[in-house]
Amino acid sequence: MSRSRQQSLFDSSPDPVPGDSRADPSSAWEAAARADQLSARVVFNRPLDTAFHYLIPDELRDHLSPGQRVRVPFGRGNRSTVGFCVGLERPPETLGRLKQIDSIVDAAPLVDGAMLELTAWIARRYLCGWGQVLESVIPAGVKRQAGTRQVKFLGLPEDFAERFHALGVGQLPAKQRAVVDALEAAGSAMRIDQLTRAAGCGNSPIDGLTKKGLLEVEMRRLDPGDAEDWSEGVVREQDLTLNPDQQAALDEIVGQLRDQTHRTLLLHGVTGSGKTEVYIQAIREVVAYGRQAIVLVPEISLTPQTIRRFRSRFDSVAVLHSHLGDAQRHYHWQRIARGEVDVIVGARSAVFAPTVNLGLIVIDEEHETTFKQESTPRYHARDVARRRAELAGVPLVLGSATPMLESWLAADTGGDRLLSLPRRIDDRPMPPVSLVDTRNDRRIRSGVAIGRGLETFIKQALDDRGQVILFLNLRGHSPAVWCRACGQGVRCDGCDVTLTWHRDRRAVVCHLCDFQSEPPSECPGCGKRGLKLLGVGTQKLEEEVRARFPGAIVLRMDSDSMRRPGSHDRALEQFRSGEAQILLGTQMIAKGLDFPNVTLVGVVDADTMLHQPDIRASERTFQLIAQVAGRTGRSDRGGRVLVQSACPDDPAIRLACNHDYAGFVVHELAHRRATLTPPFTSLARVILRSPDEAAVAELARGVAEVLRRLQPDPPPVRILGPAPAPISRVKNYYRFHLQLAAETSEVIRELWLSAASELPKHSSVELVIDVDPLNLR
Ligand code: ADP
Ligand code: ZN
Repeated sequence: MSRSRQQSLFDSSPDPVPGDSRADPSSAWEAAARADQLSARVVFNRPLDTAFHYLIPDELRDHLSPGQRVRVPFGRGNRSTVGFCVGLERPPETLGRLKQIDSIVDAAPLVDGAMLELTAWIARRYLCGWGQVLESVIPAGVKRQAGTRQVKFLGLPEDFAERFHALGVGQLPAKQRAVVDALEAAGSAMRIDQLTRAAGCGNSPIDGLTKKGLLEVEMRRLDPGDAEDWSEGVVREQDLTLNPDQQAALDEIVGQLRDQTHRTLLLHGVTGSGKTEVYIQAIREVVAYGRQAIVLVPEISLTPQTIRRFRSRFDSVAVLHSHLGDAQRHYHWQRIARGEVDVIVGARSAVFAPTVNLGLIVIDEEHETTFKQESTPRYHARDVARRRAELAGVPLVLGSATPMLESWLAADTGGDRLLSLPRRIDDRPMPPVSLVDTRNDRRIRSGVAIGRGLETFIKQALDDRGQVILFLNLRGHSPAVWCRACGQGVRCDGCDVTLTWHRDRRAVVCHLCDFQSEPPSECPGCGKRGLKLLGVGTQKLEEEVRARFPGAIVLRMDSDSMRRPGSHDRALEQFRSGEAQILLGTQMIAKGLDFPNVTLVGVVDADTMLHQPDIRASERTFQLIAQVAGRTGRSDRGGRVLVQSACPDDPAIRLACNHDYAGFVVHELAHRRATLTPPFTSLARVILRSPDEAAVAELARGVAEVLRRLQPDPPPVRILGPAPAPISRVKNYYRFHLQLAAETSEVIRELWLSAASELPKHSSVELVIDVDPLNLR
């Protein structure tokens, strides 16, 4: 495959560019394109790097714009297929005869030119099809126009005064007058039911005014379930007076806003330093200009508390989380696209919110791995946000107490700007952290989770009527079911992992595929009886805590206990109100929570992340401890932290206990530089999977061979593998991988694109490439 074809596709902005993409050669050709006729460039939901040209029949010509979907004949069999029109242009002469568009699917474009440009960039950056990106970022509910119905809105015409005058009636009947007054007071068009309520009348005065030509009727699509009152019950609050650090950070952001150019600003603020208040006041500025702001937060942080914080400050806030139904998502999308929403708060995919006049993007807790999508397109919301902000010429603010090293480096030595909030609000101290070496604790060695020191601390905190958070990053009851005789753990049938005993389900469960079965009575390996449960998960911790502190009310939060929608919010509310004294759980409780009465945080096992085969194991360990420690000492009551670890000398653990992010950065960056790992290199990972182990192994070798052969000398890309992936089997699919490392991702991209047409294929093997992978398993 030629490099030039690739570029001609991805360089393309929505404006016409002379392309040299091809039509399918084996089809029945249409008549030759007339010289003055435009063709449509169409991309499909496939991993294709090519756009295809189609003729636009005369009767469709006035109705088609880029961003609409079209139905076209595709491939050898001319199968009727839906694709996205991404451009209109003169058909390249080299193409010969073109097929013709059958029909237009959408009445209006689903995305605008800016979004087309952004999605083209994503396809290029993450090495997937443009059509795949469009398919993924436009919500299903938007494509189907889910749940909407046409609703009549009534408003006053602009020239109301003249029209009224022209009637020559001097005065309107009182009821009609009331309708006009209500509309004037509202300042915008209203639905009939809203209007009759506001004017205190029935339908007849409205009909009367309509007949006189004094009302304008407009049909709008509306979602039936979620039409109004979404800010009900939220009390309006004033902005806080910023402290000098916050003010300095805000001034920088506002200065950048007024500059109307792009800049990424990294707001590094310790836990409890008041980052959110800085975002809010920066957004206030954006909204004052009549522009919109997008705030991305990790899904787990979309708690009622977070939502309330934004709703209490802004008139029109849309919250986009993953539980929205198709109809609700469509409804929000439309309101945003009409410019009716000032602030969009949402998880990863909210980076695609179709704002009319974007003014600012904020990413809170920017270090969170959930900002990376783990299915095609495998984009990272931070990079997409950066690109979107560049295209729009607006600032991007990244906030974190523990920025990802990539972000830190970009601000420290790259072009990004670093803003610091080094102190907590009201100069509250960071909580003191005690690090307990569990190797010396007999109780812990005997399989108990809570050591002597932690028990004493918990007791004291409860006696002082404080609340306690206990963090353990292993769900289930016992993380290993182990055979004493052969020393093997019991494994999943379909996956290459050991099973976890879940007492609540009375089953051993696979955390990869959720397979569950009755616990075996003998070892599946050697057949001996006497399997042993090893280790402590959150369920066992819960039992232990209940037994030791019978007077306390205990809540457990992990993905097992929080299955039902709303249970997460309910549990947090119970804890906030003081109804429960101890909250224990996984990552879910480690982030972002702001409970003033928490006087103790216990990290039950700091080592769980440390021994993962992952270049970021240290960084994740540091982040988790720092974040969970940040949940205490947030009021005058103060607070302290106890960390249990069997590796107390590990730098990540030691530095996290000293609240020493700067020290950790120096240490870890030196290590990354020495090992040539990110952020000093760019990585991509090729993952192959198949139920057929021999086929996937062979194909992986073939792919590696092509890549190696196409490398210039000296080879700019280091190619590792192929090798079985660290998790070598999931749901009976065997997994192999290759790692590509180079100075920039551009170098990897060039190699990959030059190889694309030569890569071997096998019908049973799926192949994906993950650019800038965060998950290396
Ligand atoms: P962070 O996100 O940096 O951990 P938060 O934004 O949650 O910190 O702020 C911590 C607490 O401090 C919140 O309860 C917030 O309302 C409060 N706060 C923030 N800024 C101020 C301020 N300028 N004055 C008083 N309280 C503040
Ligand atoms: Zn499994």
